[in-house]
Amino acid sequence: MRTASATCRRAAASASVSASWGHRSAVSTRKGGGFYGFKVHAAVCARTDLPVAWRVDTAGSHESNYVAPLLDAAKDRGFAAETTALDKGYDLGRVYGECEDRDSRPIIPLRETPDVKRGADKPPTCEHGEWRFAGADQRRGKTKWRCPTGECHPRSRWIKADRLHPLVPRESKRWKSLYRGRASVEREFGRLKNEWALLPLRVRGIERVRLHADLTILAKLACALARARGAPLAA
Ligand SMILES: [Zn+2]
Repeated sequence: MRTASATCRRAAASASVSASWGHRSAVSTRKGGGFYGFKVHAAVCARTDLPVAWRVDTAGSHESNYVAPLLDAAKDRGFAAETTALDKGYDLGRVYGECEDRDSRPIIPLRETPDVKRGADKPPTCEHGEWRFAGADQRRGKTKWRCPTGECHPRSRWIKADRLHPLVPRESKRWKSLYRGRASVEREFGRLKNEWALLPLRVRGIERVRLHADLTILAKLACALARARGAPLAA
C-alpha cells in the first residue's frame, strides 16, 4: 500500500478499539434472546476509518481484555497507534497501563467511581484557583500543573500519570478532539454490518464465524487498497 505506508504513522495516530457486535437482533425482544453470541473487537484507524486489527470471540470475555492484543497486532502490521480512544467501558487502571506500555496515550472518559465522586481526578487547586495544565513528560510518565497566578511556591508540580490524571488531560482540547475519533469505530462497524454483509451471520461455530469476519474485513481492505492505488477493480 504505497500511499498508506507513506503516511501510516500519521494515519494510525489514533486508533479506536470497540467491542460492538452481537447486538440484539431487531426481531427478538425477549430477554437474553437474539444475540449471536460473538463479538468483533477491532482497532480502527481514526483517520481512515479502516480496521487495522480485529479479533472475534465469544461474547463472554470482557472487552478490556482485547486492548493489549489489538494494539500489539496493529503494531506488528506497521500501525503504531500514538493514541487509543476507548469508551467508558474500558475505564480501568489496567487498560491505561497497557496503552502506556505500548507508547500509546489512552483517551478514555471516566466512570463515576468513588475516586471520581470525591473529585480525585480534578486538577490541583490553591487559594488562587484551579491549576493549569503545563505540559506532559511522556518519558517520565508525568504531567505538569501550574498555579494560575504563579504566586505559589513552587509555582508548578509534576503529577504521575494514571487513570485519574492521564498524560493527555481530559480538560484539554486535544483530548476532546482525539475522543471524537472514537466515532470511527462505530461508523466502521455500521458499514461492515450494513454494506459488507458482516451481518446477518449465516454460519455457526467460532472458527467459521472468524473466517466470515476475516473475509468480510479483508474484502473491505482490499477495496480500500485498490482505491488508494487508483487501480480499477477487477470485475
Ligand atoms: Zn497558587
